[in-house]
Amino acid sequence: MLYKNIFLLLGSNLGDRLSCLSLCLELIEEHVGTIIKKSSIYETTAWGRTDQPDFLNQAIEIETPFPPTELLSACQNIEKKIGRQREEKWGARTIDIDIIYFGDKIIHSNELTIPHPRMTERKFVLIPLTQISPSFVHPILKKTSEELLKQCRDELLVKYFSPQRREGAK
Ligand code: AMP
Repeated sequence: MLYKNIFLLLGSNLGDRLSCLSLCLELIEEHVGTIIKKSSIYETTAWGRTDQPDFLNQAIEIETPFPPTELLSACQNIEKKIGRQREEKWGARTIDIDIIYFGDKIIHSNELTIPHPRMTERKFVLIPLTQISPSFVHPILKKTSEELLKQCRDELLVKYFSPQRREGAK
């Protein structure tokens, strides 16, 4: 059994951010499932904190044999492997993996809220998500990614990030 229409948002704002994202994609293919679509990479000012490096974000669509809780554990193992430091809330991190949608499932448990509760307030989620899946419908709000993006009032700048741009290069 394969679960489909699963959307993840990857974020990195520490070290070689591009390498962290590409290592994350490799580990997802190896340990989690098949990557069906990938958005471009976008650069965003850190949310909640202004004294830390900008994030690179990328949305992906996957298919996986894992149900939601197992998918969360598999993603957390990858975060650990890539060396995320969990101590500091909203602090700098090498990689963060959020589950945005798990098909049309709605989940409210202690460890998991799906659809991701803050996705509709954040353009760094909605812009890459709309790029790969403009017409996927939010199972609670009944709006497409494109509609959610249009009504989002987030003012943080989300810029296209060219993969040719090397970390540290001017
Ligand atoms: P964060 O600091 O944003 O990485 O939050 C990590 C915690 O959020 C984890 O311990 C998860 O149990 C919880 N969580 C709740 N909903 C989600 C979701 N949709 N995707 C990823 N983590 C989630």
